[in-house]
Amino acid sequence: MAGSETLDDYRDKRDFSRTPEPPGEPDAAAIHPIFVIQKHDATTLHYDFRLESDGVLKSWAVPKGPSLDPKEKRLAVPTEDHPLDYADFEGVIPAGSYGAGTVLVWDRGTYQNLTRKGGQEVPVAEALRQGHVSFRLDGKKVRGGYALTRFRTGKGEAWLLVKKDDAEADPRRDPVGTEPRSVVSGRTLEEIRAGGTGPGEAPDGREG
Ligand code: MN
Repeated sequence: MAGSETLDDYRDKRDFSRTPEPPGEPDAAAIHPIFVIQKHDATTLHYDFRLESDGVLKSWAVPKGPSLDPKEKRLAVPTEDHPLDYADFEGVIPAGSYGAGTVLVWDRGTYQNLTRKGGQEVPVAEALRQGHVSFRLDGKKVRGGYALTRFRTGKGEAWLLVKKDDAEADPRRDPVGTEPRSVVSGRTLEEIRAGGTGPGEAPDGREG
């Protein structure tokens, strides 16, 4: 039941008359909460990892993206909460706007909270406040257990995203390197930047 004030930072940073990103409203809690990983070619290329909690998308910027190798610890720097409908956003944020650059929906799906304490499930919002959340992702590229753990608080707050050593762990697979396309449109960052509407469609978007 977080109020829309959790989206204040998100809204303060953006001029919705200039950017195609959604202004958004917090939504009611979902039975199958979603996650999304957006590849964002901004000042530096990174992957925005977002988990639904309390009607918004809790967000971290992961410079190297997720790994399927349990031995790899990926830095995850928290960013402002985003609205749920941001999970559908793919496109170009214009120059001069916050986060200017190209956004691609790199993976998306639902997740299951696995965080437990003394045999009891810890709700995701509470787990995040405590600095450790464990979950199972069911995406198209990334599946299985992961943990996000805060290792530094305060101004330089930072977390680590680590794959659990389960049946879906696979150090030989590197989807960040080998599967660059959008799971929604099939486009690459370059194709989105060029303004195409998708493979096989007119790049100038004149249809209809
Ligand atoms: Mn970003």
